[in-house]
Amino acid sequence: MAKAIKTKLKKTSSAKTPFKMEWDLGLLYNSEHDPALEADMAKIESAYEAFEKKYRGVSNYLTDEAKLFEVLTDYQNLLETLPLSKPINYFQYRKDLKSTDRVAEANINIISERLTKNENKVLFFELALSKISVATQKQFLESKKLAPFHYFLERLFLKAKHDLTEAEEKIMSRKSLPSYELWVNGTEKMLGGLRIPFGKKQVSLAEALNLIPTLPKKSRRVLHESTIEKLKELGMVAENELNAIIINKKINDELRHFETPYDQTLLSYENDRETLRSLRLAVKDSFNVSQRFYKIKSKMLGIKPLTYAERNIPAGKISGNFKTEKAVAIVKEAFSKIDPMYAGILDRFLKNGQVDFLPQGGKTSGAYCSGNLNAPTFVLLNHVNSFDSVMTLAHEMGHAIHTELSKESQRGLYKNYSTATAEVASTLFEQVAFDSVFETLSSKEKVVALHNKIQDDIQTIFRQIACFNFEVELHDSIRKKGSVSHEDIAALMNTHMKSYLGETVKLTPDDGYFFVHWSHLRRFFYVYSYAFGQLVSKALYGRLKKDKTFSARIETFLRSGGSDTPENIFKKAGVNVTAAGFWKEGIQTIEEEIKQLKKLVG
Ligand SMILES: [Zn+2]
Repeated sequence: MAKAIKTKLKKTSSAKTPFKMEWDLGLLYNSEHDPALEADMAKIESAYEAFEKKYRGVSNYLTDEAKLFEVLTDYQNLLETLPLSKPINYFQYRKDLKSTDRVAEANINIISERLTKNENKVLFFELALSKISVATQKQFLESKKLAPFHYFLERLFLKAKHDLTEAEEKIMSRKSLPSYELWVNGTEKMLGGLRIPFGKKQVSLAEALNLIPTLPKKSRRVLHESTIEKLKELGMVAENELNAIIINKKINDELRHFETPYDQTLLSYENDRETLRSLRLAVKDSFNVSQRFYKIKSKMLGIKPLTYAERNIPAGKISGNFKTEKAVAIVKEAFSKIDPMYAGILDRFLKNGQVDFLPQGGKTSGAYCSGNLNAPTFVLLNHVNSFDSVMTLAHEMGHAIHTELSKESQRGLYKNYSTATAEVASTLFEQVAFDSVFETLSSKEKVVALHNKIQDDIQTIFRQIACFNFEVELHDSIRKKGSVSHEDIAALMNTHMKSYLGETVKLTPDDGYFFVHWSHLRRFFYVYSYAFGQLVSKALYGRLKKDKTFSARIETFLRSGGSDTPENIFKKAGVNVTAAGFWKEGIQTIEEEIKQLKKLVG
């Protein structure tokens, strides 16, 4: 494996682009034999051991502010100085580049077990702290000395209500690998190995999903059907997997006294139930908006009815080959308009080999940004030279910028931000890039771009809330009935997809088998955060367009990490997400764009 990686590095340096096209995992380690790897693991383990030795059995910090300040400072030091995620990241990235990398897979299992055991060593500390009386909690939360740790303590006390005993927590944590991760990995591995017939060739699932929306009608529908057929063959696998991990979650929720299947997600994303309720309600009330869009789309494209394969097809082609270099130039220029600092971050990533651009067999599908404490941030793409690929680059770099600025500005306990604020940053930078390219388009292409943008917004807001509703019903059904068959999961998925697509899009029963590969479902209810992020970012961007100096507020937000609830972080940036009617504001901007589109196409 070490050899393969070396070859890759060579290829990178001789590439034509003036920057690296592939990840340089040498930023982490040279190979699985790199002595630095074991040295890092040993450093992590001995630091945790030292913390345990120093504080286990000590109880003075549970009543004394000054003592607690000391422990928290030591605790924060662990996060600020140790390469905690570097070893596991290294192998995860290798596996994401090549799903068949067995060495990586085996090491992920070994290291994650070691890290879990390691984290278990300091579990006692947060657990002990979470068991203090409500009166002492109040005293600590009001303490001036403890102010730097105020938000951390507040969250800890909120989570404490769902904590189990230390021994039980250890069991919960150790059983998570076989009862959740190995199931999800198993399905992923099978999906990664799928070969779908496409003309005389065979393509991977990731390639097929990228291709479908770009093909002419006939071949699009053929490839869509072959893809579904292949997914359906894995229906039983996914059924077993989903039932297992959802029942496992049900057991965990019962033990931890979570009322609804999504309460734990809300708690970990630091949003409150009321925010989610008002968001879901506002979007559900506006499903007629997305349905109206699909009616116009059907007329515009002259396809009646639209099939599920057509839900996300573009309205035409935006000409121009957005090769990597051009995409980079566009995004850089757009980012510079807000602040040159943002383009500088992109430059640094390209120079270091922190972005992996092109699709290849065995590489994981989609795109992501992975940022961790005391380790470089990496962006994975599947760039196919399209306009959308440019938007994806802007989106993931938005995450990367948020990560870099938060890492730079916050202390250890607050460097990681909530997923709810994550999507605000990414979609904000995506919109900036969009507007920048939009100005350069012909009037014909503007129609196409506007159509595609509205469609993307609908997928981000309406589709994700429909997915959330699907998840709620799936979890409820499994909780009630004990298990749900793959036929029923597919049918349920269709019901919810119809809710936002409307009558114009006709779904076949087998279309529901897209659930097999929908990785969101494995992350339990986080999809609402996409809708949250998109609607908040529309509000922030609206203000920036009116007033260029608002960029300072945006920077404040990007530097805020996880130092407060998303609700409060945005309040500080001048946007009150808890105000009545707030969500409708963002939805209204989409309605206006739909009107504009209708006018443009006549
Ligand atoms: Zn994102």
